Amino acid sequence: MTTEAELLAKVPTQLFIGGDWVDSTSGRAIAVHDPATGMVLLSIADASVEDAAAAMDAAADTQASWAATAPRVRGEILRRAFDLMQQRADEFALLMTLEMGKPLAEARGEVTYGGEFLRWFSEEAVRISGRYGKNPEGTGRMIVTHLPVGPSYLITPWNFPLAMATRKIAPAIAAGCTAIIKPAELTPLTTLYFAKLLDEVGLPKGVLNVLTTSTSREVSAPIIADPRLRKLSFTGSTGVGQTLLKQAADTVLRTSMELGGNAPFVVFEDADLDKAVDGAMLAKFRNIGQACTAANRFIVHSSVADEFASKLTERVKALKIGRGTEEGVAIGPLINAGAVDKADSLVQDAIARGAQLLTGGTRVAGDGSFYEPTVLTEVVAGSDILREEIFGPVVTIIPFTDEADAVAKANDTEYGLVSYVFTRDLARGQRLIESLQTGMMGLNVGVVSNAAAPFGGVKQSGVGREGGLEGIHEYLETKYVLTPDPFSS
Ligand code: NAD
Repeated sequence: MTTEAELLAKVPTQLFIGGDWVDSTSGRAIAVHDPATGMVLLSIADASVEDAAAAMDAAADTQASWAATAPRVRGEILRRAFDLMQQRADEFALLMTLEMGKPLAEARGEVTYGGEFLRWFSEEAVRISGRYGKNPEGTGRMIVTHLPVGPSYLITPWNFPLAMATRKIAPAIAAGCTAIIKPAELTPLTTLYFAKLLDEVGLPKGVLNVLTTSTSREVSAPIIADPRLRKLSFTGSTGVGQTLLKQAADTVLRTSMELGGNAPFVVFEDADLDKAVDGAMLAKFRNIGQACTAANRFIVHSSVADEFASKLTERVKALKIGRGTEEGVAIGPLINAGAVDKADSLVQDAIARGAQLLTGGTRVAGDGSFYEPTVLTEVVAGSDILREEIFGPVVTIIPFTDEADAVAKANDTEYGLVSYVFTRDLARGQRLIESLQTGMMGLNVGVVSNAAAPFGGVKQSGVGREGGLEGIHEYLETKYVLTPDPFSS
């Protein structure tokens, strides 16, 4: 078993540009912290605008040769990356726990989920198909083919340091696109370690470039404005996504936007309440509540709301808080002190407006940014906590009266990423598939993510889908060709 110090010694601390690990021209460094202790884990390169230009040159210069590389070769690089990731699963898991704080068991789960994108897209690389057929008039032949979009800029958030990177890098590689990835400055180590792995399995120089920076806006703007860039894929908050969409408009970039969420978790009176509570624990407390898919509002039929609240509270009180590396810990730290302040202010606002506190509701004293898992019930309409992403371990319960009331409450948000519904009534479940305004839905389950499924949202939760059959098309252009009827020419 690799120790923390041995692992950190293996993680690159430089920028990865054109296949070489290089120092930043800025001369600055970013200190990466362990949110459980506040200690510095590593200091890494802090990219400048000049470094961004070098990464853009590398991605643009490599595009033609990478697009010309056989799909099988591209797929096999991804497959080797998948295999090597399995061998290093414990290391990747520990690294994520150190820099992000999630419990080790969950970090292992993310290695499985994140690794699956490598395997899935290794298989998709050789299945980029087209069409050939007569036009309706019979006067010509129509050819439809798919070509790589071109150099892509990938921006990822801190909450899933591996999966958000592989979910973008794997389809880009499979499709024949070169890329620059900019991980979040709070958790860049996993991406650096993953880039090292891709280098080891033979990814040609320049296909993937990594920029770590504390000045995301300054470094990203010239890349996004560069006419050689053809694609921007972003996962993060809706506010930053809106800014990037405006920037992308100038060069009419293809964009994929995986943005924020405010997931409703609807429990009907006919639901299996124990299964609903199991689902709720996953949908709320995975990643310490810091997931775009986290259930933000529990909308529960008034006849079962008290029972649901008390069963859930019992489970929540048993959750162990601590550093993610400790055995049995379910609630690690939030990413930083600001995240604790935000969660606490939302909780205090809800209580001030009349919500009942069943457990939690306070920060944990000491080093690290911990917040007690919390359950609030009878949360009053208009409370900030129902409108904003909580991004912390806080349950809010709101009662409803009938199906129409549940649907209206669930859809009362500008977000539309995912919804969860618990009911034993099949027809009702089918009605909700169509009436809930979300890109994804968990019907009697509390987690939906799967590399084989199209992940993404509607409304202000985003544009495009990652994973599934759809995922590779985010990195492909469709080209249509017409030729004359070969029998009459
Ligand atoms: P964030 O928007 O603050 O940052 C995301 C990334 O964008 C980071 O790498 C950051 O450095 C970069 N960034 C910030 N401002 C930028 C700018 N002006 N130009 C270029 N880059 C910029 O989000 P976060 O706090 O890292 O992540 C949490 C958010 O991500 C939540 O809203 C969550 O819902 C969302 N999220 C969405 C999904 C999804 O698939 N829909 C998945 C995970 C997280």
